This record gives sequence, C-alpha cells and structure tokens, in this order.
Amino acid sequence: MNPDPDCIFCKIIAGEIPCFKLYEDKATFAFMDINPANEGHALVIPREHAADVHAVSAEAIAATVVTAKKIATAVERTVKPDGLNLLQCNGPAAAQSVLHFHMHVLPRFDNDELKLNWGLQPGDMDAIGALAERIRANL
Ligand code: 5GP
Ligand code: ZN
Repeated sequence: MNPDPDCIFCKIIAGEIPCFKLYEDKATFAFMDINPANEGHALVIPREHAADVHAVSAEAIAATVVTAKKIATAVERTVKPDGLNLLQCNGPAAAQSVLHFHMHVLPRFDNDELKLNWGLQPGDMDAIGALAERIRANL
C-alpha cells in the first residue's frame, strides 16, 4: 500500500510494533486499543495510510466499516455491554491523536459517564490480551 514510516498504525500493520490483533483481511486490520476507554475497546483501520476522513479513499472507508461491523458483533458477544459506539475522530478538537484513519469499536455500559474526548489511560496488557483471545473466538 502506501505506509508512512512515521505512522504508529502503519508500523502495527507491518508487525514492527506489537499489538493484540483481532482480525485482518486484504484491506483492513483490527486490534485492541492499549488505552481502553472501556473493556473491549478495539480499533479498526484500513491498510491504506490516510490521515482522516477527508483523506481516506471511498474503497478504504467502506472496507473499514464492514470490518468494524464484524468486530462490533464479536465484541458484543464477548463483553456483553449495554451499548456500543462506533466512533471516528478527525482533528485536534475531536481529540484525534493518531493520524491514520481509524474507527473505535467502543463498548458502553450504563452509567459509565464516558465523555467523547476521554483521556488516555494505559490498560492492563494481560487483561487486554486475554480479552482479545475471547473476542477472536467470537469472530
Ligand atoms: P484517536 O484519539 O486518534 O481517535 O484514537 C487513537 C487511539 O489509538 C487511542 O484510543 C489510543 O489509545 C490508541 N493507540 C495509540 N497508540 C497505540 C498503540 O501503540 N497501540 C494500540 N493498540 N493502540 C494505540
Ligand atoms: Zn499509517
């Protein structure tokens, strides 16, 4: 594709940075967020490097949404949240921190008080890895 050597998500796709991978296909890649806003927080990205919704191609965003639906269903089966947001952020005011288009698969729980611009808090890697295994089993 068109990897950006300075992009953390391109490095994850290339296997240069480890991740808890959930799924990949020819156009997309899905993995656990290591700063989960809630249990089961996952990310879905196109292989194509594009900064945001304005730059991503129609083909790549379409493939990403299809994979996000697949991951959302597996997360729903695994974590059994009360709700789930599919969320995508663009620009600093929307708290976009990684400039490679991505969709958050974000489980929601009653009264979780989650704000849209949540602060990043490192998660427990053992717990995230174990949960990734359970979500993969539900794909
Ligand atoms: P944004 O704020 O740009 O919408 O979301 C970027 C997300 O990427 C954040 O939720 C953040 O926790 C996640 N993230 C940043 N760096 C890494 C990383 O190295 N590995 C993983 N798995 N997630 C990351
Ligand atoms: Zn990238």
